[in-house]
Amino acid sequence: MLDTVVMKFGGTSVGGAAAIRQLIEIVRAGRTRWPGVAVVVSAMSGVTDILLHTAHAAERGEAHLAPAAAEKLREKHLAALRELAPAAPGVADHITACLDEFAALCHAIGVLGEASPRALDAIAALGERMSAPLVAAALERAGVPARPVDAAEVVLTDSVYQAASPDMEATRARAASVVQPLLAAGVVPVITGFIGATRAGVVTTLGRGGSDFSGAIFGVALEAREVWIWTDVTGVMTADPRVVKAARTLPEMTFREISELAYYGAKVLHPKTIRPVVERGIALWVKNTFQPELPGTRIVADSGPVQGSVRAVTAFRGQCILTLEGRGMMGIPGIAARTFAAVARTRTSISLISQASSEQSICFVVPRAASETVQQALEEEFRLEFARGDIDTITASPECAVVTVVGAGMRHTPGIAGRVFSALGAAGVNVVVIAQGSSECSISLVVEAGQADEAVRAIHQMIETVGG
Ligand code: ASP
Ligand code: MG
Repeated sequence: MLDTVVMKFGGTSVGGAAAIRQLIEIVRAGRTRWPGVAVVVSAMSGVTDILLHTAHAAERGEAHLAPAAAEKLREKHLAALRELAPAAPGVADHITACLDEFAALCHAIGVLGEASPRALDAIAALGERMSAPLVAAALERAGVPARPVDAAEVVLTDSVYQAASPDMEATRARAASVVQPLLAAGVVPVITGFIGATRAGVVTTLGRGGSDFSGAIFGVALEAREVWIWTDVTGVMTADPRVVKAARTLPEMTFREISELAYYGAKVLHPKTIRPVVERGIALWVKNTFQPELPGTRIVADSGPVQGSVRAVTAFRGQCILTLEGRGMMGIPGIAARTFAAVARTRTSISLISQASSEQSICFVVPRAASETVQQALEEEFRLEFARGDIDTITASPECAVVTVVGAGMRHTPGIAGRVFSALGAAGVNVVVIAQGSSECSISLVVEAGQADEAVRAIHQMIETVGG
């Protein structure tokens, strides 16, 4: 098997002619080092959003918006095509055909008044189905042999539309017959990220942001040595640089650290998606398309001692604390189970839970937008306990943020929590709720929305002086 690298380019990295030129140079340089270079692309930036918004509008009876949206998307793709590969045979027609399909699907949704998950996947998949042939044509024109590959022909998934899971064995076999021959012939396959298909050939998607997952799937299926995720940031940073000026790129992060970070909103990589790659010991890098000379961040497996204690801090905004309180809750089993079952029925995901041993209250954090629904569900569930006076109140806090401090080395370093809280106290930040994961690799605390930036900055100062 060839020594292969899989390079996944995100939406901004294929967002227009200038970005695609960068991609071409990156791939060209990669080919001097690697016998096999496979490219996985996202839709051009913003395209998936437009496709899905338009589909949802059609569902609400506004299917008349679709032709204008299709025109806008056509112009976006054709503008890039005109600059990069104006004479590429068939690409403009292919883009037009995709957008005709988009308009027809939106029309059907409008007539039915309903957008099924399957229809939404057919629509969302069009973004990647347009970008891959465009990028392949641009590479060819620049003298790099390339061929578009529709992942629907390679990635076999279940039929859980909008969140499909791949069958890796079948996918590996198909990659061997569809993609390997291209690599062996010195051709760069330009594969659509984000999508797959069921055994019956119906298109599925892996979930929003799923093209990282595609990068990992092809990394494994092609038995690649490395997977490089090209994006618009310089890797994984110690904090959001818009909040902390001194934020810097981490040269290395463990899988567990990135999992904690990703969960709390540092949307660099989705942990679920990269696990297969890290577990197989395939090197995974996050790199910046617009500054390719920088090394980026390497994601490593969890083993081995980790340098530093506090490594990164993030804020997950738009949250709200719900508190269930009552003297009659003490010692009664099942209150927590019923609470969380009631929340689960609203299909809301809880990001943090805390209960003190007095058992007089349970509190947990949910997205602000879901708080009213959740509150109602709880009131219903505990109607009897309310009547009896066992539960006194169910309250929702004003908007808040979950601030998470991450560092695998925290596990072996006592006193970190103390320093975190001293730093916050000194900065005048009021901590409302605290939780520490049992992995001891992260501490999360909830602060009022207005104090989130202050909290992140105060904790980041610890990174500058102690960790990293
Ligand atoms: N285009 C898809 C999305 O926007 C997949 C991706 O870019 O990762 O969700
Ligand atoms: Mg992404």
